[in-house]
Amino acid sequence: MSNYIVLVKQVPDVTQITDNAFDSETGTLIRTRLASVINELDAQALAFAHYMKKISGAQNGKIIALTMGPPMAEEVLRYALSRCADTVVLLTDKALGGADTVATANPLAFAIRKIIKDILKSGNDYYVVTGMQSVDGDTAQVPPQIADELDLPCIAYVTGAEFKDSRFEFTRIISGGSQVVTPKKMLAVITVAKYEYPLFATFAGARWANKTEVIQWGSADINAAHIGVKGSKTAVIRVFPPGKSTRKCRQISDTKSLARVLVDSFTSGNGESGLGTETQTYRYILPDKRADKFDRSFEGTKKEQQDYEILTNVLAELGITDISRVDDADRKKILSAVGGRFHKKTLEDMLNGFKLNEPAFKGEVWVVAEHSDGAVHPATFELIGKARELADSLQTKVGAAVAGYEIEPFAKELIAAGADNIYIIEDKLLSVFDPAAHRKAIADCVSTYWPQIVLYAATPQGRMLAPMVSYRVGCGLTADCTGLDIRDNSRNGLIGILLQTRPALGGNVMATIRTKNSKSQMATARPGVMKRLPPDSSRTGNIIRHKVQLSDDDISLEILKTELGTGEVNFGADVVVSGGKGMQSRDNYERLMGMLCDGLSKKLDTQAERGASRAAVEQGFIERVHQVGQTGTSIGPKIYIALGISGAIQHMIGVANTETIIAINSDPNAPIFKQCDYYIVGTVEDTIPQLVKALEIV
Ligand SMILES: Cc1cc2nc3c(=O)[nH]c(=O)nc-3n(C[C@H](O)[C@H](O)[C@H](O)COP(=O)(O)OP(=O)(O)OC[C@H]3O[C@@H](n4cnc5c(N)ncnc54)[C@H](O)[C@@H]3O)c2cc1C
Repeated sequence: MSNYIVLVKQVPDVTQITDNAFDSETGTLIRTRLASVINELDAQALAFAHYMKKISGAQNGKIIALTMGPPMAEEVLRYALSRCADTVVLLTDKALGGADTVATANPLAFAIRKIIKDILKSGNDYYVVTGMQSVDGDTAQVPPQIADELDLPCIAYVTGAEFKDSRFEFTRIISGGSQVVTPKKMLAVITVAKYEYPLFATFAGARWANKTEVIQWGSADINAAHIGVKGSKTAVIRVFPPGKSTRKCRQISDTKSLARVLVDSFTSGNGESGLGTETQTYRYILPDKRADKFDRSFEGTKKEQQDYEILTNVLAELGITDISRVDDADRKKILSAVGGRFHKKTLEDMLNGFKLNEPAFKGEVWVVAEHSDGAVHPATFELIGKARELADSLQTKVGAAVAGYEIEPFAKELIAAGADNIYIIEDKLLSVFDPAAHRKAIADCVSTYWPQIVLYAATPQGRMLAPMVSYRVGCGLTADCTGLDIRDNSRNGLIGILLQTRPALGGNVMATIRTKNSKSQMATARPGVMKRLPPDSSRTGNIIRHKVQLSDDDISLEILKTELGTGEVNFGADVVVSGGKGMQSRDNYERLMGMLCDGLSKKLDTQAERGASRAAVEQGFIERVHQVGQTGTSIGPKIYIALGISGAIQHMIGVANTETIIAINSDPNAPIFKQCDYYIVGTVEDTIPQLVKALEIV
C-alpha cells in the first residue's frame, strides 16, 4: 500500500499577465495585480497521484498535499482537499522566504521526513509526486534536489503510468522519444509533465475541504539545514523586462498577401535568425590585463559602473594615481566631490575594489557533455564554444566531463570544438543514462577537480542531472540561462564572477543571478542560444581518466522500453513545414501537408521537408523522427511554417535559428503569434488550400 505526498505551489496566474503587472523601473512583478492559482502542473500531479492510487488497487493509501508558502497558500491546500487529498500540510514561516531552489528543496525534503514520521507513522512506502516545474520559477530543479536529499530515484517528465506485477511503470519524455521505466527501490520522486485528466471538486468535497484542518508547520518544526535567503546559494542581482523579440509578429489578412510575403522572404532571406541567439556583450578582461588600471567598466550593474566612473574622474581631478596612498584628507575631498552619491563605507569598499586582481573562483571552466547512441548532443558543442570564451577571459582552461561507456572517441570531437582537458568517467554501469549513477560519477569528478564554472545543457537530461550534482556538491545552480557573462562586483570583493541571465515567469521577465556560498558556479544553458565554434581538428588536448566506484546499487531505474525516432528526414532543407495537434488527424496532416509541401517545392524550386510538434507525433500524425523542438531536432531553415501549433517553449526552442517563421492558427490569441514573423488567423483546413492556389499565381 503506497502513500502519495503531492507537492503543490500557489503561483501568480501568468496566463492573465498584463503590461501593468510589472514595475516599469525594476521589471519585477506586482503580485497584487494578478490572481493566485494552483500551479497547473501541480494540479495535474494531484490528479496523477489519484490515478496512481486507483490503478494500484490499494485504496487505503493516503494522499497528502504539502506546500511551502505564505499563509494564503492555504488556498491551494483546500483545492487539494476538495479534489482528493486526505491530509494537507502548510509549511509557512517568514524565515523560509526569499529562498532559491536549494533553500526550497531542503525544507520541503525535511517536511517530507516529518510527514513520514508523524503522519504516516514511519510507513516507508511513499511516492513524492509533483509538477515538473512551476510557472513562476520555471527551473524544474526543486524535485530532483528533493530526490537527492531523500536519496530517492527521480523520474522526471512523466506523462503516464501503469501498474503491472505489483509495481508502477512510468512513461516519460526523453530526448528523441519516450521511455518506460520503473524505480528499482519502489519509492521515487515523480515529476509530471502532462496529465490532462482534471479532477473536479464535488459539492460535498468542497464543504469537507473548508472544514478540514490544515496542519501548519514553521521552520522550527522541521529543522532544515538550508532555509531562506541565508540558506540560498544563488542571489538575484537584477530583474529587467525582456528585450523586444526581433520577430516581426505581423498579421496577414489574406492568403495572397501571405504567398507574396513567403516568396519574398525566401528570395531575399538575410541569413539572420530572429530569435534565440545570445545578445553580444563585450568580452571581459581581468583587472590586471586592462590598459587602464582604473578601468572598472566590467562591473555587474550599471549603477556600479557609473559609481566607479565618477570615482575615477574625481581621482583624476585630484591627481591621485596610487590607491594605497589615499589618506583621510583625500577621502574627505573625494566624498565632498561626489556630492553624496556614495557614502564613507561605500567609498572604502570601492577603493578596496580597485586593489583586487584575482578572480573570486579558481579552476577551469567545464561543460558536462551529454551523449546518446554514440553521438554527442549538439548543445554540448554550443556550450564548449561559450566555455572557451569564458575561459579565455579568465585565462584558464576548458574542461569537458563525459560519463558513460566506450566514450573515449568523443574526446577528439570535444577538443576540436574548443575543450582542452577531457575528463572521462568510464564504466559499464554508465552505458545508459541513470540519474543517480550519473550524478554520482559527475559529482565525484567535480568535487575532485573543482572547476570554477560548470555548464550543462538545459535538455531534459541536463535539467535533471545538474540539480542533483549541484545539490550533492553544495553549489548553487541557475536554470535555463540565455546569457552568461563574466563580470566584477569589486565593491563586494568579487572579481571575475559568472553572471547568469535567464527568462522567468514564462519569459515575461529576465533575471540576472550570481552564485554565492559555493565552490563552483553552475548553470544550465538553453540549447540553440550559445554559439558553436567551427571545429578545428588541429587543436590538441589531454585526456584525464577519472575512476568512480560504482555498483549495481547505484542504478536507480530499470529501463523497460525506449522508443526513439527512426527513419530519414532532411532538416537541412531551406523550407520546413510542421504540423501540430491542430492538424486534427493523420489524414488531414497527410493531405494538407502534401498539398502545401508540393506547392512550395514547385514555386520555390527547393525541397520542403515535413516537421511536427511533439503533440502531433504523439497523436500518430507522423513518425517521431520528424519532431522539431527541445526533445526533437533543432533546425534553422530559411522558412519555417507552423500549422496548428500553439508555440510552446519546448517547440520554439527548436526553431530559434530560423530566418522567417510563419504561423497559421485558428486561435487569435495563440502564443505562437508573438514568436513568429507573419501569421494568419484561420483554420488549416480553409487556409492551406487557398495558400496553395495563391502560390500558383503570385
Ligand atoms: C520535457 C518536455 C519536452 C518537450 N519537447 C517538445 C519538443 O521537442 N517539441 C514539441 O513540439 N513539443 C515538446 N514538448 C511539448 C510541448 O510542451 C507542447 O505540449 C507541444 O509543443 C504542443 O504541441 P502543439 O502545439 O501541436 O499542440 P497544442 O498545444 O495542443 O496546440 C494546438 C494548436 O492548434 C490550434 N488549432 C486547433 N485546431 C486548429 C485548426 N483547425 N486550424 C488551425 N489551428 C488549429 C490551436 O489553436 C492550438 O494553438 C515537450 C514537453 C516537455 C514537458
